[in-house]
Amino acid sequence: MAMGAADVIIFLTDAVQGLTATDQAVAQRLRRTDKPVMLAVNKVDNENRELAAAEFFQLGISETSFISAYHNYGVYDLLERMVDLLPTRELEVFTPATELRLSIVGRTNVGKSLLTNAILGEERSIVSPEAGTTRDALDTPITYRDHTITLVDTAGIRRPGQVQRGIEKYSVLRAVNAVHRSDITLLITDATELATAQDAHIAGLAWDTNRGLIVVVNKWDLVNPNRFRTERSLHRVHQRLHFMPYVPVSFTSALTGEGINELLDTALSLWMERQRRVPFRDLQYLLADAVSTHAPPSRRGNLRNRLRVRRVRQVGVNPPTFVFSVNDPKLLHFSYERYLENQIRERFGFHRTHLRLVFRAER
Ligand code: GDP
Repeated sequence: MAMGAADVIIFLTDAVQGLTATDQAVAQRLRRTDKPVMLAVNKVDNENRELAAAEFFQLGISETSFISAYHNYGVYDLLERMVDLLPTRELEVFTPATELRLSIVGRTNVGKSLLTNAILGEERSIVSPEAGTTRDALDTPITYRDHTITLVDTAGIRRPGQVQRGIEKYSVLRAVNAVHRSDITLLITDATELATAQDAHIAGLAWDTNRGLIVVVNKWDLVNPNRFRTERSLHRVHQRLHFMPYVPVSFTSALTGEGINELLDTALSLWMERQRRVPFRDLQYLLADAVSTHAPPSRRGNLRNRLRVRRVRQVGVNPPTFVFSVNDPKLLHFSYERYLENQIRERFGFHRTHLRLVFRAER
């Protein structure tokens, strides 16, 4: 699971123990992944150990380094090499998808299983496996309002007739994996115990991937719902999850089925927002307006140090990604970036998704 969620895998072995059968087995498993693998032989504290550690070359991993974590030897070089192997994220653009992939994550006992079962309820037909291409056995596709929605890793949460408690039931690692395999994540929270530190932790993990996120306040039947209650809950969610100001919040009861359709509707509309493309011309008009209303400030009043924004293009969707051609990206101030982002949000109605803004030098 850790391998599934990783960009680069560091295989750590022990020079004191030497090459073991377990190391061989792990190396064998690593040969099957298409992720970059680095072997780090640890505890190489002196020359003798270094000579002995040469046996690890047998594993045939081209990126092999000898390190001593204790003496902080070779660790910096290892990191440098690792950075080179990281995928370039800047313009990693997810392709527009025809099928919405939803993952469901959250603490134990917030109602993930019940909610999953409610979503897979009778009125929504489960697409039979023969109909489509070969699907991951862990996932369950359904049709909803003529769209295919695939619930990711239902096997991990849906265990009918099985009452199971404890941290084993849904590990953070499993959640991270599910998030990475989906377009939109439903973070389930409990209305009676709203937005805990652990909720915030999982929310942060999902948010940082640039994917879609919806906070679901479940067990809504247990509170006495009225307008004030709803507003208080919304306020609390936004307060605790302040790092994601534009996240949509849905209220559900997995027990009574209330709010489930609204939740799926929210997911579909967020998904469409994330797939939206703005015509090139409209973007240039927006840029001209934005710059004339509020010109980029010049540094220390020196006009030569003024940021010039020449053009903006949308290069991708999911999340909508915009590339600004500027004279010098170093002249960009954070507040001006925020300003441009807000202009795009307001003009084109991106109210609930991440936007990615990239600034590139162009003479
Ligand atoms: P999970 O650990 O997140 O998968 O949580 P479960 O789906 O197993 O639910 C934990 C407990 O909360 C069970 O006893 C459920 O019956 C109960 N539960 C889940 N959703 C709701 C809800 O919307 N309302 C009420 N009253 N109870 C719920």
